[in-house]
Amino acid sequence: MVARIVDLRSDTVTKPTETMRTAMAFAEVDDDVLGFDPTAFRLEAEMAKKFGKEAALFVPSGTMSNLICVLAHCDVRGSEVILGDNCHIYIYENGGIATIGGVHPRVVKNNNDGTMDIDLIEAAIRDPKGELFYPSTKLICLENTHANSGGRCLSAEYTDRVGEVAKKHGLKLHIDGARIFNASVALGVPVDRLVQAADSVSVCLSKGIGAPVGSVIIGSENFIAKARVLRKALGGGMRQIGILCAAALVGLHENVGKLESDHKNARTLADGLSEIRGLKVDASSVETNMIFIGIEGSWTTAEKIRKYLEERNILLMKDSSSRLRVVLHHQISASDVQYALSCFQQALQCENGN
Ligand SMILES: *Cc1c(COP(=O)(O)O)cnc(C)c1O
Repeated sequence: MVARIVDLRSDTVTKPTETMRTAMAFAEVDDDVLGFDPTAFRLEAEMAKKFGKEAALFVPSGTMSNLICVLAHCDVRGSEVILGDNCHIYIYENGGIATIGGVHPRVVKNNNDGTMDIDLIEAAIRDPKGELFYPSTKLICLENTHANSGGRCLSAEYTDRVGEVAKKHGLKLHIDGARIFNASVALGVPVDRLVQAADSVSVCLSKGIGAPVGSVIIGSENFIAKARVLRKALGGGMRQIGILCAAALVGLHENVGKLESDHKNARTLADGLSEIRGLKVDASSVETNMIFIGIEGSWTTAEKIRKYLEERNILLMKDSSSRLRVVLHHQISASDVQYALSCFQQALQCENGN
């Protein structure tokens, strides 16, 4: 038998389940570029309804869905988007909004909880009277959950307040909701309420939902029509995507309900880790499925601990030379968590020589 791997690198590492593979094998398909794939229609209709908007569009990745949304909202070169200095679009998406879209990022500081101060957002909006000098602000982007702050949730009320600022200045609001279902489950607030103030939302299917591929953009009919053209232009138009959408539908039906237990596992792990000498874990900031583990013990390093755990079939990512990142998902059980915890204890003890 192959040794069990406890893969805590990301929630993107989930493998398609038997039910998903069966659904994929039997999915009804047709050419989606021509606009005829029935399973894509089913997924898109279900997502639009769940999020309380008119329409939705399947796209290959979260990076492409964010890029399409920013481009669709900022359709004049030299437009400006307000976003957080610690957000995914700004840090991890190759600067595509600038290099591909000609959109200028206006960066506002992210707080530790993933928010940006409302007054800082408002202050970052360009005065339209300065158009001889300034780019033209078109869009505000939020991220929920906020990955780089450790999967923190933005409340519906906070999002509404940002939406009011956007409206007051004639701007659009986009939510990078790669893990919006995690926020919904953790807050006990339905996703449609969380994105009520947004003009567009991007949701990852290949994270906690557990599908092998894909993201979905959700918005108005008009917006999705624009997004469909941009998807084609960026090379994201694909043919029999029903095979992928079938897996995503199974993920939506079977795995959203499991996120609660991912969060519980994360809390258990964070509580345990916070008691290990040499580690620094703020268990109270663990709201969803992510944990950042600071390494304080002078006798060890993040890389040494990562390696020690890897030799025991526990995989995780190094965030920096002094920080590790752990992400829970539906293929990690409570007993995996106990195993990981005991290996962490050993890793720090053995380095400590006691
Ligand atoms: C993963 C992620 C994305 C991008 O998704 P990919 O499918 O990896 O391109 C966007 N935003 C956030 C917050 C993410 O965590």
